[in-house]
Amino acid sequence: MNKSYVVGKSKIHGRGVFAEINIPKYTKIVEYDGEKVSRAEGTRRHNLQSKKGRFYIFELNKQWDIDGSKGGPGKLINHSCTPTCYYTIKRGKIWICAKRNIHSGEELTYNYDVLEKNTHLCNCKAKNCKGLM
Ligand SMILES: [Zn+2]
Repeated sequence: MNKSYVVGKSKIHGRGVFAEINIPKYTKIVEYDGEKVSRAEGTRRHNLQSKKGRFYIFELNKQWDIDGSKGGPGKLINHSCTPTCYYTIKRGKIWICAKRNIHSGEELTYNYDVLEKNTHLCNCKAKNCKGLM
């Protein structure tokens, strides 16, 4: 799989991930990798991180979470209320995939599906964004 993305400064938040080429709908773009931790440890870390506006704990399944803060560029993909991507979990791996045809230069985003809905600030600027994720 060729790398189709590049990390850059985001208008949404900090650094983000952008399409470097045109990416067709449903393409697997990048794995959300990191440290595999128990749900209990993941929840503990999430509660600490989310207070600082960081969302790196990804629910893998009922037993395990992935802490992306120890992982690759997948963790830099920002949340959007109208995302360009979605995630899928296959054979114990989390993949970020294109939700639609994405043009070169567009920011890659997905819906974080945070547990505590509408309690964290959102700056995605999508038309349907209520300012909270
Ligand atoms: Zn938003």
